[in-house]
Formats: sequence, C-alpha cells, structure tokens
Amino acid sequence: MAGWRERSTGGALRGYRSTMTHLSGSGRKATTACDVLVLGAGAAGMMCAIEAGRRGRSVLVVDHADAPGEKIRISGGGRCNFTNLGASPKNFLSQNPRFAISALSRYTQHDFIAMVDRHRIAWHEKTLGQLFCDGSAKQIIAMLTDEMERAGVRLALGTAVGDIAKTEGGFAVRLSSGEVRCSSLVIATGGKSIPKMGATGFAYEVAERFGLAIVPPRPALVPLTFAPDMLARMTPLAGIAVEEAVVGHGRTRFREAVLFTHRGLSGPAILQISSYWREGDEIVVSLARRFCPGGWHRPSRRPRTSPAISPTVPTRCSRASTPP
Ligand SMILES: Cc1cc2nc3c(=O)[nH]c(=O)nc-3n(C[C@H](O)[C@H](O)[C@H](O)COP(=O)(O)OP(=O)(O)OC[C@H]3O[C@@H](n4cnc5c(N)ncnc54)[C@H](O)[C@@H]3O)c2cc1C
Repeated sequence: MAGWRERSTGGALRGYRSTMTHLSGSGRKATTACDVLVLGAGAAGMMCAIEAGRRGRSVLVVDHADAPGEKIRISGGGRCNFTNLGASPKNFLSQNPRFAISALSRYTQHDFIAMVDRHRIAWHEKTLGQLFCDGSAKQIIAMLTDEMERAGVRLALGTAVGDIAKTEGGFAVRLSSGEVRCSSLVIATGGKSIPKMGATGFAYEVAERFGLAIVPPRPALVPLTFAPDMLARMTPLAGIAVEEAVVGHGRTRFREAVLFTHRGLSGPAILQISSYWREGDEIVVSLARRFCPGGWHRPSRRPRTSPAISPTVPTRCSRASTPP
C-alpha cells in the first residue's frame, strides 16, 4: 500500500449489511505489517489514528465505506456540534465513571477547540455551550483527514474486513486487499445506528468472539413514542414546539425545547432524557417555565380559553396535556 489514501481493489463490497465478511481467494495477496491497525474511519478511529501517528507508530486506518467520517458529515444538521464548552466527566453515562475522568483530564474540549482554530474553521456557540461550525461539518472531516496525513497515517477506504486472529505478537486481520499483521488492533467501527451510512454490529461480534463482556446496546439520544391511549389524546398537538420545557427522570433534569410529533415527543430535552429512560419508567414533562416537580403543572385559575400552563405554551397544548 503506497498512497496515504487508497481504495481496495480486491474483494468487492457486498453492501453494508454484512458485518464480518468472509473473504476468500486472498492467497495471492501480499501480507503487510503496521504497528497499529484501526478498523473504522469515523470520529473515534481518526482521532485514535492521529494520536498513534503522532507518537511515532506506523498506522493504517481501514473502512469499508468510500468516504471517511460519514456520520460527522450529517452531524449537527450538517454543521457538526463538535464540542461543548461545559463538557465534563459528569456528562458521560458509563458503568465506569472513572474512565471519563481519566480520559477528559488528558484531552479536553479546549484541546479540540485549539485544533479547530489551527485549521481556521469558523465556529459559533449556539446555546448552552454547544459549538457548531459556521460553515459545514465537512470542514471537521477535512481537519481530521489532514491531521492523519500530517501524522503519517495511511487510510484505506472501500476495504472489507474479514477474519481476525490473535498471533504471538498481536493480530492478523484479513482485508479484501490482503492480510495485515499489527501489534495493536483498534476496533472503532461505531454503533449500529444508521446502517445505510455504513454502521454495523461488527465491534459487538468481535467482542463476543474474543470473550469480552458486552453491555447490552440500547438506543440513546432518540425521540420517545407515546403509548396508544396517550397518543390518541396528544395527536392534535403534532408540530407544536415548546422552547423552554423541563423534562425530568428521577433527579435528572433537562431544560430545553420539546417538540410534539405524530408519534410522541422529540426535541433536545427529550433526546437527552431518552438516555436515562428505561421501559416502564416515568418521565415528567413540565411545559411551564418553572418546573413543577409534582406532576404536569399546577391547576391554573385562568379561563379555559387562555393558555393554562404559561403564556409561552399554546392553548391547544395546555388543554391536551391536562390529565383527564
Ligand atoms: C443524525 C446525527 C446527528 C449527530 N449529531 C452530532 C453532533 O452534532 N455532535 C456530536 O458530537 N455527535 C453527533 N452525533 C453522534 C456522532 O455522529 C457519533 O457519536 C459519532 O460519529 C460516532 O463516531 P464513531 O467513530 O464511534 O462511529 P462511526 O462514525 O459510526 O464510524 C464507524 C466507522 O466504521 C465503519 N465500519 C462499520 N462497520 C465496519 C466493518 N464491518 N468493516 C469496516 N468498516 C466498518 C463505518 O463505515 C464508519 O466509517 C450525531 C449522530 C447522528 C446519527
């Protein structure tokens, strides 16, 4: 493999549905070696490759997609919400909270902002410390591929990944372009969301094969749907947005926008709380400016024709959201 960015010519891709690809007839293909082989050219794989390359390792990044960072491209509505000024370990949900403490003490949002500034990417704070590109999320992808190139990282796109075997000095991985032997193997093939963009359950299959414990994956940062009886009552509200709602689950609260959809609730506050919710749990949604922890909202003495929850909440909304 000579060029830094290349497309595999061996082993055609058979669509993104297959995860662990069975490659055959690779006997005539060359075996190459590198210190670090990274599977997956998403945000995680590229950041890892940059760091390994800067530390002097020979690094190869492989992806079955034809372009790197496809999920970055659609992130933040195409402008990539690339970090948050207030990010801290307590924002990370994990069975091992200490991991975020150690990772974020070595690399903070300010380190990432410094890299964005070095690449002269203009950005702005939208709300609540969220930083977005003024232009396009593609600038973040270009920044990462540029940093990989500077760090001497090679990138092989359109390359299917086959079997992985443990060797004495590391791993042997069969690719559609031949076998690669490496001392460190990084699996950064992401989660399962949006398969049409290349997402697969590859990492889970590999973890299972190597006997690693897996925390059962579940959707996070997603809209919520109403149960059928509630859906019937709420359907007329579809399309209404309440800019400053408070959504609570246990002691966790988010004060952001809520949107009524044809199936349930969406908007930033709902996406956030969805990561905490489990089947059967109660979520409290307050559409009033001041959160009312006891339930939906305090009874209003205003006439039925005026907004019963707050002047910021449409009348339709306050009527439908009042429990019968
Ligand atoms: C609509 C949307 C908007 C978002 N907006 C934001 C935002 O504004 N800010 C933010 O921080 N986050 C945002 N996110 C989340 C963010 O995009 C992801 O958390 C992040 O991109 C995940 O990066 P990753 O490297 O872990 O995985 P991925 O980006 O999924 O990368 C995995 C890579 O591995 C490759 N791959 C998978 N399986 C195989 C295989 N078998 N063989 C070879 N290659 C394989 C894939 O092609 C892909 O390139 C958004 C997500 C979505 C869906």
